[in-house]
Amino acid sequence: MVKKQEHEIPLTSFRIEDDFWSYFQKLVTDVVIPYQEQILNDELPDVEKSHAIENFRIAAGKSDGEYYGMVFQDSDVAKWLEAVAYSLTLNPNPELEKRADDIIELIGQAQQEDGYLNTYFTVKEPEHRWQNLHDCHELYCAGHMIEAAVAWYESTGKTNLLDIMCRMADHIDNRFGKGKVRGIPGHEEIELALLRLYRATGEERYLHLSQYFIDERGTQPDYFEEEEKNRGWHFWSKDGSDKNYAQNYAPVREQDHATGHSVRAMYLYTAMADLAGEIHDESLWQACLRLFDSTVNRQMYLTGGIGSSVHGEAFTVDYDLPNDTIYAETCASIGLVFFARRMLELKPDRRFSDVMERALYNGVLSGMQHDGKRFFYVNPLEVIPGLSGVQPEYKHVIPKRPKWYACACCPPNVSRLLTSLSAYAWGESVGQNDKAPSPAGSENEAAASTDTCDTVYSHLYIGGTFTSKAGGGVTIRTETGYPWDGAVCYTVTPDSAASEFTLAVRIPGWCRDFLVSLNGQVLDTNSLDLRDGYLYVNRSWTNGDQLKLSFDMPVRRVYANPLVREDAGCVALMRGPLVYCLEQEDNGPQLQTVRLPKDSILTAENASDPVLGSYTAVRATALRLTPGDDLYSDEPPKAEETVLHAVPYYLWGNRSEGEMRVWIPEV
Ligand code: ZN
Repeated sequence: MVKKQEHEIPLTSFRIEDDFWSYFQKLVTDVVIPYQEQILNDELPDVEKSHAIENFRIAAGKSDGEYYGMVFQDSDVAKWLEAVAYSLTLNPNPELEKRADDIIELIGQAQQEDGYLNTYFTVKEPEHRWQNLHDCHELYCAGHMIEAAVAWYESTGKTNLLDIMCRMADHIDNRFGKGKVRGIPGHEEIELALLRLYRATGEERYLHLSQYFIDERGTQPDYFEEEEKNRGWHFWSKDGSDKNYAQNYAPVREQDHATGHSVRAMYLYTAMADLAGEIHDESLWQACLRLFDSTVNRQMYLTGGIGSSVHGEAFTVDYDLPNDTIYAETCASIGLVFFARRMLELKPDRRFSDVMERALYNGVLSGMQHDGKRFFYVNPLEVIPGLSGVQPEYKHVIPKRPKWYACACCPPNVSRLLTSLSAYAWGESVGQNDKAPSPAGSENEAAASTDTCDTVYSHLYIGGTFTSKAGGGVTIRTETGYPWDGAVCYTVTPDSAASEFTLAVRIPGWCRDFLVSLNGQVLDTNSLDLRDGYLYVNRSWTNGDQLKLSFDMPVRRVYANPLVREDAGCVALMRGPLVYCLEQEDNGPQLQTVRLPKDSILTAENASDPVLGSYTAVRATALRLTPGDDLYSDEPPKAEETVLHAVPYYLWGNRSEGEMRVWIPEV
C-alpha cells in the first residue's frame, strides 16, 4: 500500500550556502521581493499596472477606486506573501514582516462576514459569487492565499493569516461537498492548498474537502457543462465543453494522459500525489504514476518545459514539441517541480528527482532575468527576432523578458519556489509510528508524527548545513561546486558520539561514471547499495565522517526520440543537469545554418561575462552552411568551419536581443 516515505522538512533545517543557489536566493530576498512589492503597490511607473493591493483596499471599504486587473489578481498578492514568508526564514527582516502584516490586516478587512474572500466578486459582482467555478478562479485564489497563510504561520508562528484563511476554508467547506452544493474548480490549486492547511492545523475537514474536489473531477454529469447551463453568463468566451482543458475527461483515478492547461494539470497531479500519500490510496498513486509518465516521457521539453501550445496554454499530443511556437510557461515547470517533489515523498526514486532537477536548473531559472527584474512567461527553445513575438503563430514567444505581466502568475511563483528551495533538497524518512489519517467520513484519529527518522535523503546537490533528527540528531554539511563541477562532499557531525542512520544520496540519471569514497577510502562500485538511483549508506556515523561523491561531468550529446518531429536529425548539448543553447551574441546570426559534426570534440571551458557572471561554456568546432541566392538548388550548400560557444540555457536572453536555439542539426 502506498504511503509517504518522507515528510517535509522545516525550511530552517537546511541553511543554503552555495555558490550557485545562494546568488538566486539573495537575488529574490534583496531584489525580487522588494521589486514585486513596489509593483503590487503600483509604485513603479513603467511596468504593467498591478493594482492588486489597491483591490484589497477597495474591497475593505478603504478606497473608492475601481477594481482593476484579472479576476485572479488576488493570487499575485498571495504568492508574494508566501515568498515573503519563506524569505524571512533565510533573512529576518522586521520592516518587511511589518509591511506584510499590514497587508494581512487589510486582507482580513476585505473578508466578508461569512468568511468569503475575493476582491473581484466583493467589489464588482457580488451577486455572481460561486456561480462560475470554471472561469472565475475563486477557489484558485483561495488556494494561493491558504498556501500563503500556511507559509506565514510556519515561518513566523503567527496565526493572523491562518485564521483568516481557515474562515474562508470553512466557508468553502460549508458550501461545497457531498450533500451540499456540487462544484469543482476550473483552475486547480485549492486541492493542494487544503492538504497543506490540513497538515498545519490538523483539521480533517480540510483533508476531506480536498479529497472531495479531487474525487469529483471528471465524474458525470459533467460539472462544467451543468454549471454553464445553469448560470447563463460568461466571464471569458470559453465554455465548459472542452473536457481536456481542465483535466475533466474522466475521474482522476482513471486518467492516463496529461492533458489541457499544463499549470492546472500540474497543480491537480501535485494534489493527487499528496492525497494518495495521506490516505494511502493505491489507485490514486497508480494514476499519478501514469500521469507522470505521460508528462515527462512523451510531452516534456529537454528543459523541463511543458505545454507545447499557446492555445489553452496546453499539452497537445504525444511527441508534439515544437521549439519555436512552444508555450512552456514558467509556472508549468514550477508545477512540475511540485509534482515531482510529491511523487518523491511516496517513493525515493531518481526518476522523480531527476525531473525536479531538470526543470529547476533549466525551465524554471530561465523564467527570470539574471538581475531579477524581468521575467519570461513563455520559455522557447528557439527564437528568431522578427518572427518570435511578431508573427501571429509566434506572438506569444517574446524574445526578451518583459518587466511584468497583466497576467503576472509566473514572477511571484519563481520567488516562492526559490525561497523554499531547502524543502526540495533534503527529505527525512517518516517514523515507523506514523499513522494514516482516516479516509473521508470515518472517525479515526489524525496522523501523528514521531521525532525520529532513520534515513535522510539528499535529492539535490546544494551546499549548506542540514540539521536533521536522524539517528537522534545530526548535522550534515554539504560542499559542492555543482552544477559546474561534479564533486559533492557530505561531512557528518552527530549530536552524540555516534549515531546510526542511513544517508541516501541520489546518483543522477545523467551520470555514467562516478566514484564514492568514505573517509578517503574509495568504495567498490559493485558493493554499493543502489536502489532506484539512490545510494544508501548505513553506518554508525561519528564526528567528521565524510562521504564524497565525484560525478564524471563531460559535455553530452543528447538526442530526442525520433517521434519528436521538430528535433529530427538534431542534437542538444548538456553538461550535468544543464541544457546548453547557442545565442547570436556569441555565434552570429542565422543559427539555423550551423551543423555540428558527429566527431566534433566538445569542451567545457570557464567563461565569464559582465552580465552573466562566471559560468562554464561549451565550445565545439562546427560547420556553417553558406546560404546561396536560390531558394532551391541541386547543389548542396557550401560549408565553412566555425567555432561554437554555447551558454547554459537558463542564462539566455540576458544580453542583446538575438537568435537562440537549443537543438542543432548533426552531420
Ligand atoms: Zn505563470
